[in-house]
Formats: sequence, structure tokens, C-alpha cells
Amino acid sequence: MIRALLWDVDGTLLNFKAAEKAAIRTLFAEYGFGDCTDAMLATYAEINDAYWKKLERGEMEKPQILVRRFEDFFSVIGVDPRLSAAFNKKYQLALGDTIVFCDDADQIVAELKGRIPQYGASNGTLAAQTKKLERSGLDQLLDGAFISDQIGFEKPDARFFIPVCERLEADVPGIRKEEILIVGDSLTSDIQGGVNVGIRTCWYHPEVAAGAAVDETAERPRIDYEIRDLHEIYDILDLTTS
Ligand SMILES: [Mg+2]
Repeated sequence: MIRALLWDVDGTLLNFKAAEKAAIRTLFAEYGFGDCTDAMLATYAEINDAYWKKLERGEMEKPQILVRRFEDFFSVIGVDPRLSAAFNKKYQLALGDTIVFCDDADQIVAELKGRIPQYGASNGTLAAQTKKLERSGLDQLLDGAFISDQIGFEKPDARFFIPVCERLEADVPGIRKEEILIVGDSLTSDIQGGVNVGIRTCWYHPEVAAGAAVDETAERPRIDYEIRDLHEIYDILDLTTS
């Protein structure tokens, strides 16, 4: 039986891609860079993804990648890369300005509140994540939130989960690791992290429902559950008897 839920935030509870696009477009207008086209946003997404993968592999530090992604992006689109550090600072705050939930994440978390302890588990920066959790109301719905900036380690590092497990043991006396479920959209951070620390894993991958291709040959960490819509969490959590 699952007795506690760890929700990844970006891409799982919140539609991070929608917020990301809105924040970049707003800042392009503010800086007078002109229109940020869909093609430009796609270029940015590609550069950004590659840097986050480097972070997960421990090849780079977060402060470096936050600025470097914009330096690379600006170089490609013909904007002065020296503006990257200042742009990134504004971007971190602007990110919190657009709240878009995945599926009906807010309703689902609200519905589960009081029935099972729920926590956020995020690799985002403290400034951006705190603002997002507050603006979305998730800070009131969740029983707590763990942010890598505060812990000092990123998912999938098992050390990210040390304070998480300590808190869960205090909140849910006698809880065992296999009674904790992490729900996330990233195989490399959420699912691999769950595997590293020995808790159960649930991979949320809505893009498959939308028709995107999944590389079936890629090596994957152990996935205990797969869902394409967050409502499927009700089937995994057998709450009827509790
Ligand atoms: Mg995510």
C-alpha cells in the first residue's frame, strides 16, 4: 500500500513548458529583442534540455548552466550573450508568473489532501519554485515541499532523498520505503532517483498520449507504474479501505 506521495513539480503538477514560453516571450518584449518565434523557443528548449542532462549527470553545476543556456541561445539567435546573467535573473522570477496545471493537478492534490500525505520534490531553483508553489496554491495543498537548492543535492542523487525520508518517517510513523511513491515525468531524475533510494516509482508521460514517439529501445530505470493522465493516480492508490 502507498502511504505517502512525492510529486515532481515541473512537468508533472505544473505545465512547465507553457510557463517557460510565456516567461521568455514576456522578457523578449521587455528587453526589446523583438518577437520570440516558436522556432526560437524550440531552439532554446533543445539547448536547455541538453544542459539539464549535464546537470543530472553531474557534469556541470547549476549556476553555470542557468546562464550558459541563455549564452548559447542568444548566440544562435543574434542577441548579445553578455546579457545572459541579467536575463536569467529576471527569467527565474518571471517563471513563477504563469501557472498552468497538468491535467487537473490542483483538483487531484486537493482531493487527496488529508487522505494521504503529499509532498513536492523539485530540482528547480528556490526562488522560482517557492513563487510557483505559492501562486499555484500548491503550498497550501501539499504537506511539504523539498527543493534541491535547499537540500544541496539534485534528484536523482540519493542524498536528495535523505531529508525527504526523515520527514516522512516523522509524519507517517512506521512508513517503509516501498510505501512511498514518487510521481514524475523524468526518467533520469524522478524515476532514477526513486530507484536509487529504494522507493516506488510512477512515470507520468502525457506526451505519449499526444502521439509523440518514445524510444522503446532506450535503457530505462525500474518503473513500477506508468500513467498518461494524473487521474490514473486514483487507481494506484487504493484509498477505499483506509
Ligand atoms: Mg519534471
